[in-house]
Amino acid sequence: MIRFSQVVKSYGDHVVLRDLDFTVAPGEFVSLIGPSGSGKTTILRLLMTLEKVDGGTIEVCGDHLSHMKRGEKLVPADEKYLRDVRKRIGMVFQQFNLFPNMNVLRNITEAPVHALGVPRDEAEARAVELLEMVGLADKKDAHPTKLSGGQQQRVAIARALAMRPDVLLLDEVTSALDPELVADVLRVLREIATSTDITILCVTHEMQFARDVSDRVMMFDEGRVLEDAAPEKLFNDPEHDRTRRFLKAVI
Ligand code: ATP
Repeated sequence: MIRFSQVVKSYGDHVVLRDLDFTVAPGEFVSLIGPSGSGKTTILRLLMTLEKVDGGTIEVCGDHLSHMKRGEKLVPADEKYLRDVRKRIGMVFQQFNLFPNMNVLRNITEAPVHALGVPRDEAEARAVELLEMVGLADKKDAHPTKLSGGQQQRVAIARALAMRPDVLLLDEVTSALDPELVADVLRVLREIATSTDITILCVTHEMQFARDVSDRVMMFDEGRVLEDAAPEKLFNDPEHDRTRRFLKAVI
C-alpha cells in the first residue's frame, strides 16, 4: 500500500507537487500519466527516498518515509530505517543501469545475496526462474553489453523482482527502446501485473498499455491529480478538458 497525504515538494521556488493526496491499494496497478514536468517522476523519487518531502507524509506498507517509531513516538527516520524501507521497493528506470562488469545472473543475485543475506544457490535458483519469466533463460551467462536494450530492460525487471518487493516503481521503462523492442518488455510487465500481487506504480507514455493493464489511471497536471479513474472512464470519457487535450496530443 502507498499513501501520499498532503505532500508538498519544491525545487527552490518551483513548487512541483501541491498538497498531493492519493492511495494505492495492495496489489493495484496504477499508471501515472500527464504532461512533461507535471511531477510524475518526482513521486517515484520521493518513494525511493532519493528526495525528501517539504510537507505532508508518505507511507509505504504502513511505514512512514520521513519518520520511524521509537516506542510510542515518531522520530525522524535514520539511514538504517530508510535502507530497510527501500528493500521493499523495487524500481526500474528508463536507463536500465545494469552492472556492466557482471553477467546477467550476477546482476540479478547481487542484491538478494548482499542486502538480504539470501544464500547464493537459492538466489541463483530464483534468478533462473525470473529469467524464464522474462524470456531470457538462455542469457544467464551473457554480459549486459551483449544484449539488446529490450533484453537489458527485461534483466532490470528480473533484478528488481529478485528482491521480492512489495512495491514496484516503473519509470518510463520503454522510452529508451527502439519501437520493435517495446512489445516484449510490455508483455513481461503485463505478466507481472496479472500473476503477482505486487503493488505497481507506473509512469508511462504508452497509453495503450496503461489502458490495457492498469486498475486505475491518474492524470497529473501541474503537481496535482487532475483525474483519477478506471482506464475505461479516463480514456473514453474524461471529466476534464485538459485530460482530453492531453490524450488527443499523445494518442
Ligand atoms: P517527464 O514526463 O518529462 O519525465 P515528470 O512529470 O516526470 O516529467 P518531474 O521529472 O517530476 O516531471 O519534474 C517536475 C518538475 O520538477 C519539472 O519542472 C522539472 O524541471 C523539475 N525538477 C525535477 N527534478 C529537479 C531537480 N533535481 N532540481 C530542480 N528541478 C527539478
